[in-house]
Amino acid sequence: MSTVNAQTLIVEKTANPVSDSDREALLQNPVFGRVFTDHMVTIEYAPERGWHNGKVRPHDTLQLDPATLVLHYAQEIFEGMKAYRLPDGGATLFRPDANARRFHNSANRLAMEPLPEDVFIESVRALVRLDQKWIPATDGAALYLRPFMISTEAVLGMKPSAEYLYCVVACPVGSYFKGGSPAVTLWVSDQYTRAAPGGTGDAKCGGNYAASLAAQAEATREGCDQVVFLDAVERRWVEELGGMNVFFIFDDGSIQTPPLTGTILPGITRDSLIVLARDMGLTVREERYSIDQWQQDASSGRLREAFACGTAAVVTPIGKVTGRKYNFTIGDGGAGPVTGRLKAALLDIQNGRAEDRHGWLDRL
Ligand SMILES: *Cc1c(COP(=O)(O)O)cnc(C)c1O
Repeated sequence: MSTVNAQTLIVEKTANPVSDSDREALLQNPVFGRVFTDHMVTIEYAPERGWHNGKVRPHDTLQLDPATLVLHYAQEIFEGMKAYRLPDGGATLFRPDANARRFHNSANRLAMEPLPEDVFIESVRALVRLDQKWIPATDGAALYLRPFMISTEAVLGMKPSAEYLYCVVACPVGSYFKGGSPAVTLWVSDQYTRAAPGGTGDAKCGGNYAASLAAQAEATREGCDQVVFLDAVERRWVEELGGMNVFFIFDDGSIQTPPLTGTILPGITRDSLIVLARDMGLTVREERYSIDQWQQDASSGRLREAFACGTAAVVTPIGKVTGRKYNFTIGDGGAGPVTGRLKAALLDIQNGRAEDRHGWLDRL
């Protein structure tokens, strides 16, 4: 019944694109998430029409009735991905099929109408093709893409919406952390948790972020950069940060990351780094790691490095961990060598400087 398919997106070009000189100026030093490209994608869903009215059109405001369901019950999901500039001047996406699949899974968890995965991928490609002049060429920079879906039925009834809007916007981004990646300090939240068993921890939904903001505000007050969340049941196992997965690197060269048990977001960066680490001959374990063990191993020197990872900030070294009961430094508190090698291996593939052995690039 879906009337939109991968081939039927209608392109309506803006009559007022940002001028070449203004765009070049904006691309020099983009602030994360504040500058948007000329166009966006919108596709609508209604029960009797299926997915319809698919367009790539000028970036603009949305108009919503105040009763629109998403504004009240947060039925919303999103994705985060990037388009990269290649050395030959071309452009590529990185594993868009993985984002499409995760978006589908998130839709199911939030009782939303899943968007066909090929439509997701084609919508992102179409937007990047049209706005490809917006992909910065500077090292570490990229075009960040934000596909998302909201429930749009205007009714205050507590039920899954019958209607949805899927949208993709894009913004050029520099390195997430200015001046490379300095090590971050984490705050161990003992009061708040991010996700409970049976909850929405493995869905990429705005509600998870809303629930993590008080903990993030506490971390900021305590002089830390980010929160590290522990599991909600035993308050003991390290899960992830508000928006990044975590890895630990040991003195025997092995690497560990918490397993995907349903309360952790299955990061595509996480998955890619596991593959790349194994390619390098490193042993990777997906096993639980307790906060007490982390403190003990950091003190004894058994733990050499730790880092957080995600599409936006790529790979970020963790230098210190602080909390009401914790205070420890990892290694010398700076970026470690294995972290650096993994980050370089990933960026080299994404920027077309290394062979794409796993077929992760989707050249446009
Ligand atoms: C998006 C996200 C990540 C990272 O996922 P990537 O696919 O690597 O960008 C990790 N944790 C949370 C909670 C996230 O929302």
